[in-house]
Formats: sequence, structure tokens, C-alpha cells
Amino acid sequence: MVEEFAFDNTEERRKSRQSSGDAGWIEVIVGSMFSGKSEELIRRLRRAQIARQKVQVFKPTIDNRYSIEQIASHSGMTHVSKPVMTAAEMMAQMEVDTQVVGIDEGQFFDMAIVEAVNELARSGKRVIIAGLDQDYLGRPFEPMPQLLSIAEFITKTHAICVKCGNTANYSQRTSASTERVEVGASDKYEARCRRCFVPHSDVPTVHD
Ligand code: ADP
Ligand code: ZN
Repeated sequence: MVEEFAFDNTEERRKSRQSSGDAGWIEVIVGSMFSGKSEELIRRLRRAQIARQKVQVFKPTIDNRYSIEQIASHSGMTHVSKPVMTAAEMMAQMEVDTQVVGIDEGQFFDMAIVEAVNELARSGKRVIIAGLDQDYLGRPFEPMPQLLSIAEFITKTHAICVKCGNTANYSQRTSASTERVEVGASDKYEARCRRCFVPHSDVPTVHD
């Protein structure tokens, strides 16, 4: 069964009541490509802004599919964000009075992101980080497994298998590349279920 998390505004309310001395927490959103991770991240960030919390958003520069000054979902939702090369660079840009930190494409960060988000949460910030939990071969995609281990809250999102319509948990690469990082969208990947996923490159699904 697909597990859905219905977030009410409890988190925003808790955050706005907190004084700066209190601890924050980490929320991780993981799933395959097209599963709605960016949409869910943007939804939570918009709600935090409606609650008048100070929000800062980051994404690693490796992903240049869309304008680098924003995070974007495949359905066209966008949110401004700062491009950074490393976790250290993100920390250097962090402002003390920021209450909510949003991070997209977490799988493209270096391992230092794990300690960085721990430190942010310890200093009282709510950290929301989205990313792919598996690479194109279905292997855990570091640093997401480590982030899942330290998070207070985890949301798994699912796409729809383009071959059969079942719940999709995999990002099927449809180009021949064997690089772990091969940036692209529906030109190079499609969502597939466990049964339809072929760990090495497969031809794109043709719909008539
Ligand atoms: P992610 O960040 O997980 O890659 P996005 O939030 O960018 O996902 O995009 C999710 C949106 O992608 C969906 O709301 C839907 O409009 C679109 N979409 C395209 N292909 C699929 C698919 N196979 N399954 C589900 N949604 C899809
Ligand atoms: Zn399928």
C-alpha cells in the first residue's frame, strides 16, 4: 500500500512558537523521479512562508535542468533557491535568523551534508530535504540513506509506472550512459514499478 502523510500545520505552529534556544528537526522526502518530491518540498516551504517564517532554500549546482536560481517540479511549481557547490558553502550562506531550511536534490550533495543538517537542526531550525533514495540501478543513493537514518520525519513519495500504471519506486534510465549522475528528465528517465524496472538501460516506453 502507498503510505500517504497528511501534514497539517502542526509543524509550522510549533516552529513559530519556538524560541531560538530550542531544538529543530529534520524532515526527509524521498522517492523515485516524478514521484512528487519537489512538489511536496515546495508545498511545505510555501506553508512556512504563509506562517511568516524565515525560509532559505538551497540546491546543488550539478542539476541545471531549470533556472539555477530556483527549484522546480516536473509539473511546473517553482520556488526561489540559492545554488551551492558543497554543504560547506550552504552553511557559509546560512543566516542565523532563518527558521526553515529547504534543500532539493539532496543526493547530489557531498557527505558533509549529513553533519550540516544535524547542526542546523540542533541550532533550532526545521530542515526539509528532498532527494532520490535510489540511483538508476536501484542502489541506495548516498547521502540519502544517512539522512533517512538521522531524520525525525520521513515521507516516501511514489510515481506511477509508465508501463503498467502500478505504484512506481524506481527511476528507469532509458539512455545508454553508465554514469551514476546523468542529469535529465523524461528524455532520459521514466518511472517504473518493481516488475517493469530493468536495472540497465532500456528503451523508452512508447504510448499509442
Ligand atoms: P520529483 O521531484 O519526485 O522528480 P516532481 O515534484 O518534480 O517529482 O514532479 C511530480 C509531477 O510529475 C507529478 O505531479 C506529475 O504532474 C508529473 N509526472 C510526470 N510523470 C509522472 C509519473 N510517471 N508518475 C507520477 N507523476 C508524474
Ligand atoms: Zn510497471
